[in-house]
Amino acid sequence: MTDRYCVLGNPVAHSRSPAIHARFAEQCAQDIRYEAILAPLDGFAATVAQFVAAGGKGANVTVPFKEEAFRLSTRRSARAERAGAVNTLAFEETGIFGDNTDGAGLVRDIEVNLDVALAGKRILLLGAGGAARGVIAPLLDCSPASLFIANRNADKAETLVGQFSDLGAPQGHLLRGATVEATLQGCFLRGAAGPRVDAGNFAKTAGHSFDIVINATSASLSGASLPLPAGIYAPGSLAYDMMYGKSETPFLALARQQGAARLADGLGMLVEQAAEAFLVWRSVRPETAPVLAELRSQLSA
Ligand code: NDP
Repeated sequence: MTDRYCVLGNPVAHSRSPAIHARFAEQCAQDIRYEAILAPLDGFAATVAQFVAAGGKGANVTVPFKEEAFRLSTRRSARAERAGAVNTLAFEETGIFGDNTDGAGLVRDIEVNLDVALAGKRILLLGAGGAARGVIAPLLDCSPASLFIANRNADKAETLVGQFSDLGAPQGHLLRGATVEATLQGCFLRGAAGPRVDAGNFAKTAGHSFDIVINATSASLSGASLPLPAGIYAPGSLAYDMMYGKSETPFLALARQQGAARLADGLGMLVEQAAEAFLVWRSVRPETAPVLAELRSQLSA
């Protein structure tokens, strides 16, 4: 029997998830149907309930419902708890399981598809919204040398550093024992054996250089450029925009001007987070490379 899945969002018509999951299903010989469903802004829970009643097995969740999906979940993965947002729902006999695959998707795109190791790198993460929050723990798990979270509203970035200050571990984690107070004082904190973590506005990145700069703001959506100081790109650095589109985003155009050695958009992250969701639902991980290549050629056609 065909199992039903969907992506829920508003808007959602532009979503590439149905095409991605159709390819995955073909590749893994899984009998599924995956559709895009527009949920009313005030009707997310009701739309989920309808889909479950109609036999739905799982759903991806996109803007603006990830926090609501978190609240709706009756059981959550550790990474969803950590992110405070859910992008993957699995409808079980006993309730709703919520997961967050965005961070795993980003890490896999950078480390596997782009072949850039995160360990030992100085990372600048731009933005402090849901997407940024979802990737902080997975990035820190990869033992970078440091993580600087910069946001237009610096308070939000500093709050995030505080929220992740408990990620203490013998290695590869930050801020063991660090306090929110210390963070709010704007100290450059160093965990006992983990990465340094700092936060501030964009201007505060002046005088620092980074190996990987990740844009997790939605500025590119409105065509806006970020006021990033010159000199942030270290030799050989990667500029990564979670956004993707037909033409180069304003962030990537600026990165090119400012000397980033490599540029990447978020199409790979999209495919990788989808593969991770497919694994949650079907217990099989599809091969992403052919699907990403196909999507890339469609995008540039
Ligand atoms: P949110 O609305 O939660 O957060 C938006 C962030 O962008 C905030 O940090 C906000 O700053 C900042 N921002 C918005 N406009 C500007 C601007 N003009 N100048 C500077 N900063 C700005 O969005 P999300 O975190 O959910 O999503 C962020 C982006 O990531 C989106 O473009 C989304 O499409 C993309 N994304 C891509 C994925 C993929 O698979 N490729 C997966 C998930 C997200 P402030 O706090 O100061 O308002």
